[in-house]
Amino acid sequence: MASVTLATAVPGVALVLSATRHPLQRCGAWAVAVLAGRDWPTAVTQEDVGKVAERLTTDCVRAGTARDGDGVYDWWKVLFALYPNAKPTHAARSRDREELRPAVAAMFAPDPPGAVLRPCVFCARPSAALWAKATLPMFDTTKALNTLPPQVAGWPVCRACRVAMWALPYGAWVTAGSATVLTCDSALVERDFARRNVGRAARIQQLGFSGLAAGASAETVTLAAVRAHADQACHSATLWTFKNDNQEPWLRVTATRGGLTTFVVRMLADAECWRGWRALQHAMHKTDKAGAVAVSGAAAAARLLFDREDQPAGRLAGTLLGGRWWRGGRCAACIWR
Ligand SMILES: [Zn+2]
Repeated sequence: MASVTLATAVPGVALVLSATRHPLQRCGAWAVAVLAGRDWPTAVTQEDVGKVAERLTTDCVRAGTARDGDGVYDWWKVLFALYPNAKPTHAARSRDREELRPAVAAMFAPDPPGAVLRPCVFCARPSAALWAKATLPMFDTTKALNTLPPQVAGWPVCRACRVAMWALPYGAWVTAGSATVLTCDSALVERDFARRNVGRAARIQQLGFSGLAAGASAETVTLAAVRAHADQACHSATLWTFKNDNQEPWLRVTATRGGLTTFVVRMLADAECWRGWRALQHAMHKTDKAGAVAVSGAAAAARLLFDREDQPAGRLAGTLLGGRWWRGGRCAACIWR
C-alpha cells in the first residue's frame, strides 16, 4: 500500500504512523491522531501510540465485561461487528476485567526484541506480529473481499497500524452492526470526519446508542466536515460501509459526484437553493405513530448525494425532478454541474 506523508512531522524524528491508502487503516490512523491530540498521523509519537493503546485496552475491557443494558455494552456490539473473534468480543471471553486485560493489552504490545521482522502490510515498517481476520476487519475469510493466501500464517502488522486498526471504530461512523469510513481528497475533511466520530464514540460508550440524538448519519457528518472546510477543495468523497461478520461479511461503497465542495458552498450561499434543500429534507422526514423519528430527512437527503457503484448515478436529481412537492425555483440538481 502506498502511504501518504502529511505535513508537520517533527524534523529529525522517524515517522511512527502513516495514513495509508487502505481506507480502514487510514481512518484508524486519523483516529489515533485525534485521540492523541495531534493534528496529523505523521505527528504521532511512540509515546502517543502507547497512550492510545492503553485507552483502547481499557475501553475494550470495559465493553467486553459489560452487562447487556449498560451503555458501554453498545460499544461491545460495535466491536463485535468489526472483530467478532477477537479476545474482548468472543463469546468465550473472560468476564473478569483483570483476566481479560492482559490478553487485550498483548494485541497492542511492542514487538519483542529479536523477533523475526517482516514489512507491515499497510506501511512496510518492520513488524513481528502476524494478524488475520480475528483482529483485522475484512481480512482472511472465504467470503470476504480480502482473503489470506494458503499457507500464510497472517499479515505482518506493525504496532502503530495494530493500534490504528483498533482505533478504527473511534474514527468511523458506527452502528451496532456496521462501520463506515470516509476517504476523500481533503485531509482536513477526513480529519474532521474522524474528530466528530471520536466524540460520538465517547457518547456511545457512556450512554449507548439510545442516548444519541437522531438525525445524523455518515453522510450528514461528511457534509458537515465539507462545510467546515469549505475553503479546501474536496472534489468527491467515498464512504466504505462494512460488517466483518463471521459468516457473511459485506462491504458497500458509495461515492459522490465531483464538485462536492462547490455544491455545498453554493447550496449554502444561495438562499433559494437552501430553502429547496430544506424542503427536500422535510419531504423525506418520517415519524412513527409515537412521534419518534423513523426516517431522518436530513440523513435521507444527504444520502442522495452518494451513489452506489452498482446503481445508476444521479439519484438526487431524479428525486428532485420526480418530486411533486417541488414548487419551482432553482433546485440542487441545477447547481451541481
Ligand atoms: Zn504499519
